[in-house]
Amino acid sequence: MPAMTMTKIPILDLSTEIDTLWAPITEAVQRVLRSGQFILGPEVKAFEDEAADYLGAKHAVGCNSGTDALVIALRALGVSPGDEVITTSFSFIASAEGISMVGATPVLVDIEPQTFNLDPAAIEAKITPRTKAIIPVHLFGQAADMDAITDIAARHELKILEDTAQAFGGTFNGKKLGTIGDVGAFSFFPTKNLGAYGDGGLIATNDDHVADLARMLRVHGSKKRYHNEIEGYNSRLDALQAAILRVKLPHVDEWNALRRAAADRYDALLAEVPGVVTPHRAPGCPGPPGCEHVFHQYTVRITNGRRDAVAERMSDAGVGTMIYYPVPIHRLPVYQHLVFDDLPFTDQACAEVLSLPMWPQIDEATQRAVTEALTDALR
Ligand SMILES: *Cc1c(COP(=O)(O)O)cnc(C)c1O
Repeated sequence: MPAMTMTKIPILDLSTEIDTLWAPITEAVQRVLRSGQFILGPEVKAFEDEAADYLGAKHAVGCNSGTDALVIALRALGVSPGDEVITTSFSFIASAEGISMVGATPVLVDIEPQTFNLDPAAIEAKITPRTKAIIPVHLFGQAADMDAITDIAARHELKILEDTAQAFGGTFNGKKLGTIGDVGAFSFFPTKNLGAYGDGGLIATNDDHVADLARMLRVHGSKKRYHNEIEGYNSRLDALQAAILRVKLPHVDEWNALRRAAADRYDALLAEVPGVVTPHRAPGCPGPPGCEHVFHQYTVRITNGRRDAVAERMSDAGVGTMIYYPVPIHRLPVYQHLVFDDLPFTDQACAEVLSLPMWPQIDEATQRAVTEALTDALR
C-alpha cells in the first residue's frame, strides 16, 4: 500500500464540546475550588435537583459511578442473596456484576436481534419463585420494550431497575428512560451521552423509600454521620463533577438531536452497501418525541463472518471502530460457575456488531470518510 497522508478519525471526539464549553466549565471548576467543598454539598444537591427536574423524577441521588448506581439501586429495592435478577447477556459486565455484587444471581437471557435489547418473551420464560427484579438495559441509547417489561413485572410482582447508562435523555412513550421502572441507574463516565470529566453516577426514582435508602447507602448506610444503620458504601458524587455536569445538562437534548441527525446521515450513506445492516428503530414506538433513540453508539452488523477483518482494515485506514461487545456476559470467564441457556441471538450479535465513530458534532465529510473506509474494507 502506498503511504498516504491520512487524517485519523477517532471513535469519539470530545474536543469540540470542551472548546465550546471551556469558559463555563472553567468557571464552574473554579467556583468549586473556591468553595472548599469537594464531596456532596450544595453543588451536588443543585445537580440532583436539576437532573430530577430534567428527567421528570421525584428523586435523583448522585453517586460515584453507573456501576455503583446499579448496586445501590438493587440494595435499595431489597434484592439480597438468594434472589434472582433477570437481565440481558448483551451488555457491559456492570449490568450483571451489580446483581452478583449484592449476592443475588444474574439470570441472563437473549435479545431481540433487531434492537439488541432484551427479549420480553425470554424474560417471562426464566421467572422462578426466586426472581426479584428485571434489569432492562437501554442498549446503545434505544429503549428496551418497556410496555412488555412493565406488564411482565406487574403480573409477577417484580421490580424493574432500568440500566440507563447509555441512554440519558432517551424516551419511551413520552417518558424519560430511567423513570419508567421502579428505579433508573445512570452513568456519567466521560464517553456517555451526558459525561463527566471523571467517574459519576445517578439513581433516579419516584419512590421515597428507595430514594431514602439510596441516600443512606452511598454514605456508609447512615442518615446521621457516625450513626450507621446498615452496611453501605463510599459512593458519593464529587462536587467538581456535579458542577461540570450542571454546565452540560442543558445541552444534552441538543446533543442527542445531533446524534440522531448523524445517525440518519449514516443510514443514508450505508443504505446501498451490501453486507452492512444499519441500526433498526424499535417497532411499536410512536417515534419522536414519544420514543427517541439517543444513539450512544451507532452500531451496524457486518454479516457473513467478515466483521473482524473489516474492523482491522478500517483501523489500517485510520478509522476508529469499537466492538461492543466481543464476548457476551454469559461467556465471560467470571461467570463460568453459573449455568446459562444457549443465547444464539446474543452470540450472533457479538460476532457481527461494529460501532462506528459517533459524537454530536461529527460532520458529514467525516461520516462520508468512515462509510467509504467501511465500503472499501468490504471489497
Ligand atoms: C457504562 C455502563 C455501565 C457502568 O457505568 P460506570 O459509570 O462506568 O460504572 C453500566 N451499564 C452499562 C450498560 C454501561 O454502558
